[in-house]
Amino acid sequence: MFFDEDLKADRLPRGTVCLTYDDGPGESPGAGPGPHTRELGQYLRDEGVRATFFVVGRQIELHRDSVVALNGWGHLLGNHTYSHPGLVALAESGGDVVGEVERADALLRPLVSGPMIYLRAPYGNWRQTVEVAPGVFRDRPESIVAGILNASGKFPHVVGPVNWDIVAEDWECWRRGVPPEEAARRYVDAVDRVGRGIILMHDSSEDEFLRARNQTMRMTKEMVPQLKRKGYRFVRLDEIPQVRTAALVRSRVVLAADGGHPLALDPEGRDEIALDLSEHPPRLPFGVAPLAAGWFALRAPNGLFLSQPAAGTGLVTARSLEAGPRESLRFQLAGAAGFAVKCATGGYFTLAETERGPRLAVTPRRSQRLACTVDPVSLPAALVRNPRRIADSRFPIPDRSLATSSPRGPQTARCRDG
Ligand SMILES: [Zn+2]
Repeated sequence: MFFDEDLKADRLPRGTVCLTYDDGPGESPGAGPGPHTRELGQYLRDEGVRATFFVVGRQIELHRDSVVALNGWGHLLGNHTYSHPGLVALAESGGDVVGEVERADALLRPLVSGPMIYLRAPYGNWRQTVEVAPGVFRDRPESIVAGILNASGKFPHVVGPVNWDIVAEDWECWRRGVPPEEAARRYVDAVDRVGRGIILMHDSSEDEFLRARNQTMRMTKEMVPQLKRKGYRFVRLDEIPQVRTAALVRSRVVLAADGGHPLALDPEGRDEIALDLSEHPPRLPFGVAPLAAGWFALRAPNGLFLSQPAAGTGLVTARSLEAGPRESLRFQLAGAAGFAVKCATGGYFTLAETERGPRLAVTPRRSQRLACTVDPVSLPAALVRNPRRIADSRFPIPDRSLATSSPRGPQTARCRDG
């Protein structure tokens, strides 16, 4: 599943970091500057650090053995496309975005362990920008790249886009001839400033000038002992809870009020779910993560699951890293064309008025104020074409809402009182 928003690790406990390396693998003769992916991977293995390498497809073709070795040493291998293009421009020009991910996937998948493969977009380039004021640009909330990749139905095992929380521009260090000891100091300072998260580095480069000057292996040998002395703990990317929740998502739904306005994370950062009353609000879906026996959890764009209030009624918050009873939900068909969201702890999703505006809440009775819209691009095309199969599948989408609607547009099912 590809999300509109970046996957980050800003809820990791302080003092926990994840090392990631992009643009390799690469191998240079001798011990001088240049990529040394194998030696880097071996050093990290010896230090007990499991890192993540986002590799470029055409570099896998040149250094297949390095990928096999990294996997054998317990590092995670991720997809960084076949030829490292900016994916937004490629999508806008009608280029082969699917092929870029697919070719790298075909090279990588036979060489790695584990069911899921994580994707990082080259340059972190994932959403178009809009000029909101003269000279002021902002990312669109919806990703043109995620839309194309999800609609292809080819990547049920790929999760992205993985972004980062900490960077000290290693590539600028190599461009300016900064020694690796100084580059390591800049990275350790950046880690201390942010405190936790995913660290972005490059074990090679698509740029020949930078590749020949790459000192990331030596920088890492300076950096890891310093971070260990400071008490930092290292986790692999797939151990990060916000990343693990993303890998569980199998489909997506938009929650909307009866008037059509969608719900979104509270912009004030309270982890509540607010009704977006702006004029053209983006319809950002929540991820559906199937649990046992037809129950599911809803993953908010902050990477956390929606939790029912402890007291049974009250506001819903997106604060949970684990899916337990308070996160377990079920669609309940209500009448000919509708469904309600039922909570395992009792009650139903509804909207409650607060002094901050309408918020998602739980009420004892079914609500007439909420509607759910299935996001068809997140479903495998075969399922959308053949809605009968939905009932037997792992996708917790009510079959009637799909069966009664066109496979092209989103389908809306209204909750009815019952
Ligand atoms: Zn890159």
